Amino acid sequence: MNDRPLLNRRLDGFGTTIFAEMSALAVRTGAINLGQGFPDTDGPQEVREAAVRALRDGRGNQYPPGPGVPELRTAVTEHQQRFYGLAFDPDTEVLVTAGATEAIAATMLALLEPGDEVIAFEPYYDSYAACISMAGATRVPLTLRAPDFRPDLDALRDAVTDRTRLLLLNSPHNPTGMVLTRVELTAIAELAVERDLIVVTDEVYEHLTYDGAEHIPLISLPGMRDRTVAISSAGKTYSFTGWKVGWITGSAPLVGAVRTAKQFLTYVSSGPFQYAVAEALRLPDAYFTGFREGMRAKRDILADGLTAAGFEVFRPQGTYFITTDIAGLGEKDAPAFCRGLPERCGVVAVPNSVFYDDPQAGRSQVRFAFCKRDDVLREAAVRLQR
Ligand SMILES: *Cc1c(COP(=O)(O)O)cnc(C)c1O
Repeated sequence: MNDRPLLNRRLDGFGTTIFAEMSALAVRTGAINLGQGFPDTDGPQEVREAAVRALRDGRGNQYPPGPGVPELRTAVTEHQQRFYGLAFDPDTEVLVTAGATEAIAATMLALLEPGDEVIAFEPYYDSYAACISMAGATRVPLTLRAPDFRPDLDALRDAVTDRTRLLLLNSPHNPTGMVLTRVELTAIAELAVERDLIVVTDEVYEHLTYDGAEHIPLISLPGMRDRTVAISSAGKTYSFTGWKVGWITGSAPLVGAVRTAKQFLTYVSSGPFQYAVAEALRLPDAYFTGFREGMRAKRDILADGLTAAGFEVFRPQGTYFITTDIAGLGEKDAPAFCRGLPERCGVVAVPNSVFYDDPQAGRSQVRFAFCKRDDVLREAAVRLQR
């Protein structure tokens, strides 16, 4: 073969995700994995039973309808109405995807032209950069800075150019735990209307907010109903990250555009699980409150443990991640620190630098996931203090 690189230029530099690398390290060393954000306890038993029933009854074992099974699309619209007072048409304004990951990919591939600019706050979820690049577009990062990681709205305004097509937002924000306020969302909505931008909102942690922080879907704000693609997923809310059931809601033209791209990625996925997630979306309020309260308690266990171990802890208002700074431990280089941590302490964490374009910005930040059993978090805290 000639010496042309096999991997195309759009994927140059994306290599293997940090999560695969760190999870493999956890398995190899037997360390506690607080790197990748998956729960160590599966979601509700009745939802699992619903999946088994669907499999046994032959629902979803063959290709489900392209937009998703009607039961799930209807349950998504009921959920949007119940929690946010938002009305969507299940036939034209909902699309079921293979997790939020496919929703993000299909949205970028559907809506972007080569040369378009996409503004996103960094640190960002790692698939954003890759999907923007695969769509041939250019990402324009705006850095969220410690200690509170609030967005700089003046910088956002200044970053919009004639080539800006889309804002890609994530709130509650992984990895910093920042939750956008109504004031911030209002400013973003006004800017989007003024500059005629599409906004894609990654809301997979919509049910995980703490200390009075409230998740407000941007699509509920004035002027945003027809220019927002809202993305969510069952993985994080119901602790079934392996099922890969996600969805988007938005206006019929936007959802239709995304469906066009999505049908040539997976076409459909997760047939029987779609029926189970329809039931999950209809769980009583007690489920959502209990899940949030349990996760808040876990946050406090790990945050206190990390503080006692000498980390600077940025206590998150949302998600199940804690971002810390290791400078106070006399450490400067988060990637090196994380590579050595399993041997040193038997704990795996992720360096936040991988979530930034600006490698200096997150140089000394390390992310820990707290979606683990309380005893596992306590043991991790003990190990880190040693
Ligand atoms: C986990 C995660 C996703 C991916 O969700 P899936 O449904 O597992 O594909 C997307 N965005 C953020 C911010 C996440 O943390």
